[in-house]
Amino acid sequence: MSATTTLQIALPVPLPGCFDYLYQGTAVPPRGARVKVPFGRRTLIGLVHGSEPSTYPKLKPVQAVIDDAPILPDELYQLCERAARYYHHPLGEVLNYALPTLLRQGGEAQASQEKRWRITDRGFHVSDEQVSRAPRQRQALQTLREHPKGLTGAMLTALEVPAATLASLRDKGWAEQILLDDAPAIPREVLAQAPLPANPQQHQAIHAIQDAQGFQPFLLDGVTGSGKTEVYLQAMAPVLAAGKQVLVLVPEIGLTPQTVQRFRQRFSVPVVTLHSGLGDRERLDNWLAARDGKARILIGTRSAIFTPLANPGLIIVDEAHDTSLKQQDGLRFHARDLATWRAQQCDIPVVLGSATPALESLQLAREGRFHWLKLSKRATDQGRPPIETLDATLAPPGQPLLPQSLQALKQCVSEGRQALVFINRRGYAPMILCQDCGWQAECQRCDSFLTWHRSEGSLRCHHCDSRQRVPTRCPKCGSSHIQEAGSGTEKLTELLEQALPVPVIRIDRDATRRKGSLDAHLARIQKGEPAVLVGTQMLAKGHHFPRLSLVVILDMDAGFLSADFRGPEQAAQLLLQVAGRSGREDHGRVLLQTRHPDHQLLQLAASGDYPALASALLEERKLAALPPFGHLALFRCEAMNLGKAMEFLQQLSGIPLPPGVQLLGPVPAPMEKRAGRYRTQLLLQSDRRAPLHQAIEALLETARSLPQARQCRWHLDVDPIDML
Ligand code: ADP
Ligand code: ZN
Ligand code: ZN
Repeated sequence: MSATTTLQIALPVPLPGCFDYLYQGTAVPPRGARVKVPFGRRTLIGLVHGSEPSTYPKLKPVQAVIDDAPILPDELYQLCERAARYYHHPLGEVLNYALPTLLRQGGEAQASQEKRWRITDRGFHVSDEQVSRAPRQRQALQTLREHPKGLTGAMLTALEVPAATLASLRDKGWAEQILLDDAPAIPREVLAQAPLPANPQQHQAIHAIQDAQGFQPFLLDGVTGSGKTEVYLQAMAPVLAAGKQVLVLVPEIGLTPQTVQRFRQRFSVPVVTLHSGLGDRERLDNWLAARDGKARILIGTRSAIFTPLANPGLIIVDEAHDTSLKQQDGLRFHARDLATWRAQQCDIPVVLGSATPALESLQLAREGRFHWLKLSKRATDQGRPPIETLDATLAPPGQPLLPQSLQALKQCVSEGRQALVFINRRGYAPMILCQDCGWQAECQRCDSFLTWHRSEGSLRCHHCDSRQRVPTRCPKCGSSHIQEAGSGTEKLTELLEQALPVPVIRIDRDATRRKGSLDAHLARIQKGEPAVLVGTQMLAKGHHFPRLSLVVILDMDAGFLSADFRGPEQAAQLLLQVAGRSGREDHGRVLLQTRHPDHQLLQLAASGDYPALASALLEERKLAALPPFGHLALFRCEAMNLGKAMEFLQQLSGIPLPPGVQLLGPVPAPMEKRAGRYRTQLLLQSDRRAPLHQAIEALLETARSLPQARQCRWHLDVDPIDML
């Protein structure tokens, strides 16, 4: 006998609410199972949300049921629901975001059946001497050691490991072929490497985390090099020993291979990574390994907060102040906040670690809502080098470097050490202009100047990526006196190559575009030979360069003077991160060139006293009712002309709001035009979250009903971190 049920299905469409469909059959699919349904002229895959009777007369039937069990654990489903409510985003889209691409497309939730080559325990301990006469085998062993989860045939071919060599390794018992599914039996001893003896502050932090009962949020506030990673590692050990999983969020995995390596070396449990660099198949395999409990340490970027966990024990957010944790399009979630919610839901501890905590996190710690753990000294007994400020207005015309900076660089490399010159600007020069009439090369599609990339002979816009040829004559007056202004990484590299007798290694997005080139550069730096690194913020985070003793920082002023209220906070965080690369294992020096040596916040940041700076900034935020004291939401709108974009938000701004909610705007965005579109915004502010959410709900309802809603692009950003 077959019964008819009405199912509510969450679909990945930009509309609120779930959709009703009929289901005919006795085995009603549970909440969280995937089904295929007709939607307009398309067929979509959605997740079952519930089964309540419907009054809607003409329901369409479900076309197919894909899973008979929920694809996501209930705990994760609930996290998605909470995110959907908080960010006012359709549940179907949030759930869809939480699924790997292959599952979104209806693929089977099954790990790949392809065999992989993996190193054996014996193979792992083969010394280089043992294979000194078999260079291919030595190379192959090294490759396999670097990929403890094993490599497929295709991957090995790409890495140029010959099949015959693999066969020899297998015959010696040094390598084996496995199905990914053959999870290694969980070793009784999870530690593969002895922990470092913790110093008293580390000891206290480790024990506080280990002793936590159920949900407890921690702020691990430790200066760069204070050994936060060591605290994570030691706090994790008993969690892993108890058979549980640890989820670690990091800003960008590709940039910090060292961090992943430290986790792999310390523990003998399976470690998997989750980030955008993975192929669809690998991503699904890792996701399933997490869901089924085979992977025990999951390291991933912000979207990894949606990884299903069979047996969660601890969540760690490294560099928890980092803005990459906030997604800036689609579902605009903050992975740091979701990490806390998730820990609460799973009733486990969560650790936010940072040398320069976000003011939001600091305030929670000040109020006692987060347990505040402090590491105030470097773990290696090296004091943090002071930041010396230099007046950049004294630089010779057209020269980015002050004579003192150049002198210090010369001295540093002559002592056989490494130096870093930080400049947060790619390309040769940020601007070109006509000396006769003052014309400047601007992007046609954005309110911004074009950057000269001399090596590729083009002018590029860093906002919309459009490119132009470099003009030989001024398009306005015809003069041939065209000149660049300012410097970027390319120009600085060129200058330093001329001035110094050592290699200059440039690290920015352009210089590391080719796959593997960043790793190659980093490996070269690790070797420790004298060199100067020139780089953007790619070099600021997480790296540990033992031979680096001098850091020269050019032009951090923009952030401190920014119109965005978060400008000084973010500039100070970046400044201290970059400075923290210096002298990690030996004495160090940091020089900051600034055109505003008297700027008060900059001075405070340069003094290295982040807590004092944070206090000053928190005072300002309190007076202005800005986060963390006031809460914000931003409606942004873009249209082909400014009038349209203003008109839409104008209509919204007229509706009545709950008491306690302020509305500002609409106004053109600080960057009014980008990629050919005009941008406007409407800011909502409230001291309390509840009325803010009510106001958002009311605005959204109106917005969806307006005919203009279809003539412009618009979205809502709750807790925005970028006001530009
Ligand atoms: P952070 O993550 O706070 O920047 P790390 O964990 O990378 O700091 O530690 C910085 C350096 O100090 C690393 O080389 C690490 O091996 C070393 N270190 C950390 N803790 C200790 C310790 N207790 N004893 C000795 N060295 C330590
Ligand atoms: Zn001109
Ligand atoms: Zn542009």
